[in-house]
Amino acid sequence: TVSTEDLKALFVRIAEAMAREKDRLCELDGVIGDADHGIAMELGFSAAAKAVSELDSTTADPTLVFNTAAKSFLNAVGASSGPLYATALMRAGAVAKGKPSLNDDDMVELFAAFARGIQDRGKAEIGEKTMVDAWAPAAAACRATRDQGLSLPECLAAGLKAGEAGAEATKNMIATKGRSSRLGERALGHIDPGAASAVVIISCFKAHFT
Ligand code: ADP
Ligand code: MG
Ligand code: MG
Repeated sequence: TVSTEDLKALFVRIAEAMAREKDRLCELDGVIGDADHGIAMELGFSAAAKAVSELDSTTADPTLVFNTAAKSFLNAVGASSGPLYATALMRAGAVAKGKPSLNDDDMVELFAAFARGIQDRGKAEIGEKTMVDAWAPAAAACRATRDQGLSLPECLAAGLKAGEAGAEATKNMIATKGRSSRLGERALGHIDPGAASAVVIISCFKAHFT
């Protein structure tokens, strides 16, 4: 099962990954946006990791970890990814409500709720060249794999594969949501930065729970 301590360490892992990927994500955003996406994600997750690290693991439950992360992410990030990930984190916290630790089914549900939160907050559908193009197929694949009776690591591996394919597919999309929608066809051929950072987060989930 997944404990408060495991979740705190997950945020540290994601913050470290975003620090490594920051430049690449800014470069991707520089092509079709305003070049700040790597900065936003690094700031957001380092603030979240710091805040959750300061929680007392003997009293903090998984819901408090996610709610604390959501609040600090939102406060740290001025870009549009701020409210999107804050909502995702709050939804994950809601799935964990009342549970001192999380089993594999809880984690699959939490992963799906996280992805759903982004869609509900941003109102983007698949095919609009956003992070939803990575998150929605990743969550669907993760859940479908669980329905076949497979383990959490296998579900997250399937989720990562689907998320990577979804992110890659944004290259051939025209954006209709967010900043890059102003570019029209000029966005063709370029991967969406938010979809790329979604893959970074999903690979952290997979690595952390495998
Ligand atoms: P900003 O565009 O405000 O600078 P970021 O650079 O942090 O914000 O994030 C840009 C990413 O946000 C895009 O690549 C896209 O994936 C995502 N995005 C923008 N609008 C939406 C939306 N409505 N729903 C989902 N994702 C969105
Ligand atoms: Mg940007
Ligand atoms: Mg910006």
